[in-house]
Amino acid sequence: MTSTSEQLILVSLDCPHFAVLSELDYETLIDYCNREDPETWQFLLQAYSEPRSSLENLRKFSPTRFVRDERQCGRAECLVHSQPRVTGLRNLHAGLVEYFNTRKALYLQLAKEYFDLLPFLGARTINGLLSKIAHQHFSIETQHWTLDPFFESWQIAATAMNFRPSTDGDEALGHVRHALKYLVLGVADMKQLMEDIWSLKYLVGRFPEESGLERTDRKQVFANASRAAWEKRMSGFEHFGVNVRSVKRPSPESLEWQDEDEEMSTPWEAHREV
Ligand SMILES: [Zn+2]
Repeated sequence: MTSTSEQLILVSLDCPHFAVLSELDYETLIDYCNREDPETWQFLLQAYSEPRSSLENLRKFSPTRFVRDERQCGRAECLVHSQPRVTGLRNLHAGLVEYFNTRKALYLQLAKEYFDLLPFLGARTINGLLSKIAHQHFSIETQHWTLDPFFESWQIAATAMNFRPSTDGDEALGHVRHALKYLVLGVADMKQLMEDIWSLKYLVGRFPEESGLERTDRKQVFANASRAAWEKRMSGFEHFGVNVRSVKRPSPESLEWQDEDEEMSTPWEAHREV
């Protein structure tokens, strides 16, 4: 996996493991599967679905395509319904909740950046084609967020994650796979929103004369009104998420693959680095 520009695929397995692959790596895997070379594809699946790198890649690259695979990773712990399987579910659940919360924080940050930029944008920019989704989402859309299609996949994922990973079984695994699918489905919209904000930043920073010259009282009034309308339609969003109180925290031993002093990366690291 060398590029963040190509489409990345999340492959959900029939166990508490998943893999984030580039299209090329996925084609290689499928090729070995089609050649009926179980030794090789089992080795590849196990390597790609290493828990630590899977969650890291989910956070770092945010795949936009979801594929369900009926194969297991091949680890001994996943071949029997025993304690390690429960541990795997707990680890995965904790990672997905963290990913969800990080995305929520990123969304709120994008909103703040948008409304900070808005007073510097001209009406022609707002009504034009540039950053259309951001303007639609933050300034034009009037529906409460619970009715906004933008958040539909978020709500399904949060509901799917609201289970106790302390219990074993196919039901818990089904919840995890459902959550993974809908977490991935919401990524493309978020990436577009992020790109839109960056386009506006670039416009304001590099071409102020095209962005609307300068901030005026009239523009500030419009920006304040837009922000107030957005805040109203987002009421309750701060409490939206997984009911973590019902989730049994993973034991320290089960998180041995997580370094305590590790710097946690955010989704779409480019957002922070550009
Ligand atoms: Zn597994």
